[in-house]
Amino acid sequence: MNILVINCGSSSLKYQLINMDDESVLAKGLVERIGIEGSQLTHKPAGKDEYVVKQAIPDHKVAVQLVLDALADPQHGVIKDASEIYAIGHRVLHGGEKYQASIVVNDDVKKVIRECFDLGPLHNPANLIGIEACEAAMPGKKNVAVFDTAFGGTMPPKAYLYAIPREYYEKYHIRRYGFHGTSHSFVSKELIRFAGLDMNNSKVIVAHLGNGASISATVNGKCVDTSMGLTPLEGLIMGTRSGDLDPAILEFLCNHEHISISEMLTILNKKSGVYGMSGGISSDFRDLQKAMEDGNELAKATMEAYIYRVAKYIGAYTAAMNGVDAIAFTAGVGENSNFIREKVTNYLTYLGVKIDKAANDAAHGKEMTISTPDSKVKVCVIPTNEELAIARETLALTK
Ligand code: ADP
Repeated sequence: MNILVINCGSSSLKYQLINMDDESVLAKGLVERIGIEGSQLTHKPAGKDEYVVKQAIPDHKVAVQLVLDALADPQHGVIKDASEIYAIGHRVLHGGEKYQASIVVNDDVKKVIRECFDLGPLHNPANLIGIEACEAAMPGKKNVAVFDTAFGGTMPPKAYLYAIPREYYEKYHIRRYGFHGTSHSFVSKELIRFAGLDMNNSKVIVAHLGNGASISATVNGKCVDTSMGLTPLEGLIMGTRSGDLDPAILEFLCNHEHISISEMLTILNKKSGVYGMSGGISSDFRDLQKAMEDGNELAKATMEAYIYRVAKYIGAYTAAMNGVDAIAFTAGVGENSNFIREKVTNYLTYLGVKIDKAANDAAHGKEMTISTPDSKVKVCVIPTNEELAIARETLALTK
């Protein structure tokens, strides 16, 4: 039974076709520059050569049709035709307060995705276009919306309310939603299983450290706090996003630099984080580490601040849960940087965390325990797999 996973951006479409009998990826690919000159599809079928189609791709409907053509192509395809696709799972950024779980798409669901355009202006419109393009290309097949905000939907009010006038929550639903929910949900469950914990008696922290970064606290399988807020800008220092800061900085800089609030937000989203802090060295943590090793003081200070922020959040979430049984590192940095994992966990010895240096150095992109057997808290590397998580949710809701 094959599930097609679709992740639409405003000018891109990522896809994977997953055979759910053994959860293997049959093909994956990317349509780029939709509606822009130079558009192309790059299709990677398992066990076959990469296949690139360069042609005008004016909209997402054409993109979905191209994906279906590539999947069923006699030479580069992996299925006979679209009848071999059982259902389609869509990554949808924002489900607002309405959806705390994935759901089969109907008119009401589309209405809510539309109502959340304000909260996810870059992603939600593209996500809806992707759903409608699949409905048109594969009539009768079920589409499932898997919301990035759903996992954070179980947070209690003390974690999701901001200390601003109540009317803004009531009028505009201004609150913490949390993002990377599909990843936090998947990794927290894998961690509970891998660490041999009881789902109904577990306290875990997941540090999703990629280009975007966030951290979550989960008690008995339910998220109780997470670091991203109304938008993905809050929380940890990221590749190019600032994370937490004093909101008064906005007014100060807008006045002194003569820039608008939206220009300022672009700076906070795209020019800040480790990229901005390091004076523009890179948003890529490998470059930053290399610069630090070469003696660059700004790179060193940036890395220290990044690590410090992650450790601070782990401490805060341990307090929020009154303890922690296991901690997982995931995503590009979390799965690969033994350096960052070692430095973060150096802050956690007060919790009885002990790291096995050899295990930590050896853990790259695979499930592994990096703490010692006598460590009071189990620390693991758990690779995230958002596409598989979406496919599992889709199958569970449509079977
Ligand atoms: P996203 O999905 O948010 O774009 P990823 O989870 O793919 O991000 O993570 C990308 C980040 O992972 C990049 O900044 C990259 O530098 C970092 N990364 C990958 N491998 C390593 C490594 N060996 N050491 C440090 N950082 C790494």
